Amino acid sequence: ATLAAGTMVVSLAGCSGGASGGSSGGEGDGKLVGVAMPTKSSERWIQDGNAVKEQLEKEGFKVDLQYAEDDIPTQVSQIENMITKGASVLIIASIDGTTLTSVLQEAKDGDIPVIAYDRLIRDSENVDYYASFDNYKVGVQQANSVLNGLGLVDLEGKPTEGAPAGPFNIEMFAGSPDDNNATFFWDGAQDTLKPFIDAGTLKVASGQTSFEQAATLRWDGETAQKRMENILTSTYSDGSKVNAVLSPYDGISRGIISALTDAGYSVGDGWPVISGQDAELDSVKAIESGEQYATIFKDTRQLASEAVKMAVAVLNGEKPEVNNTEDYDNGKKVVPSFLLESQIVVKDNIQEVLVDSGYWTEDEIKG
Ligand code: BGC
Repeated sequence: ATLAAGTMVVSLAGCSGGASGGSSGGEGDGKLVGVAMPTKSSERWIQDGNAVKEQLEKEGFKVDLQYAEDDIPTQVSQIENMITKGASVLIIASIDGTTLTSVLQEAKDGDIPVIAYDRLIRDSENVDYYASFDNYKVGVQQANSVLNGLGLVDLEGKPTEGAPAGPFNIEMFAGSPDDNNATFFWDGAQDTLKPFIDAGTLKVASGQTSFEQAATLRWDGETAQKRMENILTSTYSDGSKVNAVLSPYDGISRGIISALTDAGYSVGDGWPVISGQDAELDSVKAIESGEQYATIFKDTRQLASEAVKMAVAVLNGEKPEVNNTEDYDNGKKVVPSFLLESQIVVKDNIQEVLVDSGYWTEDEIKG
C-alpha cells in the first residue's frame, strides 16, 4: 500500500472540542519532547506521528519522534534515549501497555511528565495524563455499523422498523490483548450485539464468542486472515454463509476480506457486512468498492492537538483540561483523561466526514 500521510493538512485552529488553553504559540522554547509511536506498519500511527510533530514544532518545541515497529525492547530503549537526551515531556503510544513500568520510573526520577497517547499505559503510577477517544463508544459504533449494514438499526443504533428477522451468521474479531483499548472496543461491541444474539437475530456459528478466542495479537492482518480461513473451513464448508464480520481495525478487516475472497465470496453476491477502524486509505477505497461496509474515523489531528495542549500545560505548571476521571484505571491509578468523539464512516458519508474535513482528498480516495 502506498502511504499518503505527508499530504495531510494539520491545523490547531481547525480542531473542535472547544477547549481553550495556553497553546498560543512559541511556548515550547526549544524544549525537547519525546514522542514514541508503536509502528509505521499501520497508516494511522504515521498520521499521528506527523500531526504531533508538526503541532509541537509550531509551539516551538524540538521533537524526537520514534517508531518501534511493534518491538517492545525497541520501544523501551527509544524512550530511555529520549530521557538521556533531556526530553522535558514524553508522549507515548505504547505497544504493550504493561511493559513500560521501569522506563517510566526513570522518567519519574528525572521529573519528566508522561502523557499516554491513544493507548493507556498500565501498571505504572508514572502516567500523568491520557489523551484518547471514547474507546467503549468506538466499540458501540463498530457493532452499530455491522447492524446497520444488515438493515437492523440506523447509524445511531436505533432499531429499524420492519427489520429482517435473520438469523444472520456473524463472526467476531478483537484487537491485541496487550492493548488496553482492545477490551474497551470489545465490551462496547458485545454490549451492543448481545440483545440481537439473545433474540436469535444474530448467530455466532463458529461458537467462538470469547475475547480470548477473538483476539488478534498486535492487530496483525495476517493472523486475522488465518483465523478467518480456519473459521470458514471449520464452520462454513457445508455451504452456509457468513453474513457479517465484526472487525476492530481496518488492517484486520483487510485480512478478513482476503480470506473471504480466497474462499470464493464475491462482492454483490452474498458478500458479508464488515466493520473496521481508523479510516485508512486502502480501507476507505474498500468501502467505495463495497468490500468493507464501514470504518470508524478517529481524527488523529484532534488527538494530536489534545496531547500537545497537555504537554504545554504540564510544562507551564498548569492542569491540562480533562473530561474523564473515572474510566481509565491503569491498575495503579485512575489516569485523568481527555476523550474525543469518533464517527462511523459508510459509503454515503465519505465525502462529508473524510474529504470535507481535509483528512483525505478526493484524489487520494479515487486514486
Ligand atoms: C487504536 C486503534 C488502532 C489499533 C491498531 C488501537 O490502540 O486505538 O485506532 O486501530 O490500535 O493500531
